[in-house]
Amino acid sequence: MTFLTPTYDLRVVAASFFIASFASFVALDLASRVATRDRRVARRWWASGALAMGTGIWSMHFVGMLAFTLPIPLGYMAAMTFVSWLAGVAVAAVALGVASRRDMHWMHVAAGALAMAVGIGVMHYAGMAALDMAPGIVWNRRLVLASVAVALVASGVALGVMHWFRRAERRRGLQLAAALVLGAALCSIHWTGMFAADFPQGAVCLSAGGLHGDSLGLLVSVSSMLVLTLTLYTSAVDARMEGRTMRMAASLKTANDELQAANEALRQRALTDPLTGLPNRVLFEDRLAQACKRRDRAAASAGRAAGAREPPRFAVLFVDLDGFKPVNDVLGHAAGDQVLQEAARRLRVAGRDNDTVARIGGDEFLLLAEGLGGVADATALAERLVKRLSRAFEVDGRRVHVSASIGVVVYPDHGQREQLVTRADAAMYAAKRAGGNTRAVFEPRMDEAGAERLNLHSELRMAIERRELKLHYQPKIDSTTGQIRGVEALLRWQHPERGNVSPVVFIPIAERFGLINEIGNWVIDEVCRQLHEWADEGMRTRVAINLSVHQLRQDDLVARIEAALRRHALDPSQLLCEVTESVAMGDPDTLQRVFDGLARIGVFISIDDFGTGYSCLINLRQLPAAQLKIDRSFINDIETSKDALAIVSAVVNLAHALGLKVVAEGVETAGQRDILIGMNCDEMQGFYFARPMAADSLHDWFLGNKPDGAADFSPSAMLEHIPT
Ligand code: C2E
Ligand code: MG
Ligand code: MG
Repeated sequence: MTFLTPTYDLRVVAASFFIASFASFVALDLASRVATRDRRVARRWWASGALAMGTGIWSMHFVGMLAFTLPIPLGYMAAMTFVSWLAGVAVAAVALGVASRRDMHWMHVAAGALAMAVGIGVMHYAGMAALDMAPGIVWNRRLVLASVAVALVASGVALGVMHWFRRAERRRGLQLAAALVLGAALCSIHWTGMFAADFPQGAVCLSAGGLHGDSLGLLVSVSSMLVLTLTLYTSAVDARMEGRTMRMAASLKTANDELQAANEALRQRALTDPLTGLPNRVLFEDRLAQACKRRDRAAASAGRAAGAREPPRFAVLFVDLDGFKPVNDVLGHAAGDQVLQEAARRLRVAGRDNDTVARIGGDEFLLLAEGLGGVADATALAERLVKRLSRAFEVDGRRVHVSASIGVVVYPDHGQREQLVTRADAAMYAAKRAGGNTRAVFEPRMDEAGAERLNLHSELRMAIERRELKLHYQPKIDSTTGQIRGVEALLRWQHPERGNVSPVVFIPIAERFGLINEIGNWVIDEVCRQLHEWADEGMRTRVAINLSVHQLRQDDLVARIEAALRRHALDPSQLLCEVTESVAMGDPDTLQRVFDGLARIGVFISIDDFGTGYSCLINLRQLPAAQLKIDRSFINDIETSKDALAIVSAVVNLAHALGLKVVAEGVETAGQRDILIGMNCDEMQGFYFARPMAADSLHDWFLGNKPDGAADFSPSAMLEHIPT
């Protein structure tokens, strides 16, 4: 059989290759559009992409057919051409569907390639069948099979390339190269299929009146190119939008991450103490509430089970450092911080892993210890802590001693959840009142003490307003002559209901609640006024006032004292300032400034309560003090304790060597007086000579009228000797 000889219009062949490549180029873009996470958007892209790409593939085929001519007129049946177009779209739908899969597996590639090959086959052979030939086309089976094989391989390759490209770095150059490869693959399928067809000599095309002609080819190519271009454009815009959305999402995520980090930091700050890193009160309360719930639940289920053992209890320990305030006041805040950090560490180490140690204020800590048998366990733990905290602290090469007072409560023995911390605090106060460096277990009577402190604070405020504070004066006696060397002004609070409230009680409250400066300023003024009044009555003496460390930090302290002296026409030497030893030895800069200022205006300084701090005697040399007052605890023991005797004697000798006068505080007996005189102690002060008394009483006392309760000592002989 002889066959008609086909001719090919190479320009049209080139156009079909171009269309195939362009369709592939668009397909590569589309695969990633279809892969978008938004299902609805993905479906839309898949459908419109399949239409565009399918049309592209089909028009490659159709234009390819138009490039083929026989020496007889040819035309295509519209219905079959439509079927072939449908097949092209189906192929594109499969290709896009498979290539955009996130979890692409070789099985998907295989199935996809098979479906595509079938689709391409249908497209091509339906397209060929649109040529209604008589006699029919003779098929070269081998080439038909080859065309199917090529379609299969090319489809697999196309899927692989599309999938790979979706993940690869998007570069247009790469996309173009890939598109050319795919275009060539598509064309090769087409042309293998074309070569498989032979047209017998004498055959005629019955559908020659159907779709045909160059203009149709142009129309198909141009319209499919248009569709593809539009699709590509939309895809590019969409990609850019998606990129922007993704960037926005990424920056939102970053912002969100930062927000979360900030939130976490804030939460940390809100729940932990920055100095020690321990939980703060808020977190502690939370843990406490949980512990209560756990214990209640355990108790309830133990109650239901017959013969079950009682569940373990837990304890709350309120830890307050003794003697911390002077460390902070004297050695400065940095040293104070070091002590607190070390104390926190010791508490943490002493507790068990699941115990909660929290810092709730200056030198106050709370410890929550679960799984205890009862009060005995809690007490043992508290004692361990007391011991640990009483060991010396190393601060800048200096050994500092603080200790701890610990209050203990056990749940549920000592109250409800809301009462635990307050009661542990009350128990801590009891430990403190017992001298500190110990622990106390809560007892119902302690409840009153906490409320008492708060009451005192508000009452003290009122007392200042109502001028209920008064000054009493206690004489200081010259040991050798028996003359009065001066008096010490001591605050008294005559409370309308409570009676006398000791300064030992209310001065710390005034210091804690910021009332001390107001009180201290009043004392300065009142003492100067009193001195002036006495001077008018013919009594000239010297008064010592007690200064709190808070007053020393007042910038205008010296100026204020100077002004008061001037206002009342007093000689500065009539005023003496007593500063406790622990204060006098610390915070060198502030103190030096104040001491220099006082020395400049001619006011002397006395070191009070000497022996209670942790200073070294040698340091005394650095202070511009005129006087040293030995604490009354030593004087108290001087008749019975050899140590006390030795210490007092050493202090007197050293102070003298340094040019300081020595005053013994708290002299209560003739025996003490005699020992002190034997030691050459310069002055004495104490109940043995006179109790602190009101200004009027002091006047009477000078005149020899012994006030009620005054010691059996008459200063009348010395009246005329009041030093000038
Ligand atoms: P201080 O400065 O060491 O005062 C001496 C304390 O010892 C006074 O207690 C005094 O009444 C008491 N005392 C004197 N002789 C004897 C004695 O023979 N036996 C005994 N057992 N005690 C004696 P007071 O008046 O209760 O004052 C206690 C502390 O309160 C003072 O100790 C001082 O530190 C502080 N204070 C008093 N008035 C003021 C003040 O105006 N300002 C400041 N900042 N503190 C003051
Ligand atoms: Mg004093
Ligand atoms: Mg004293």
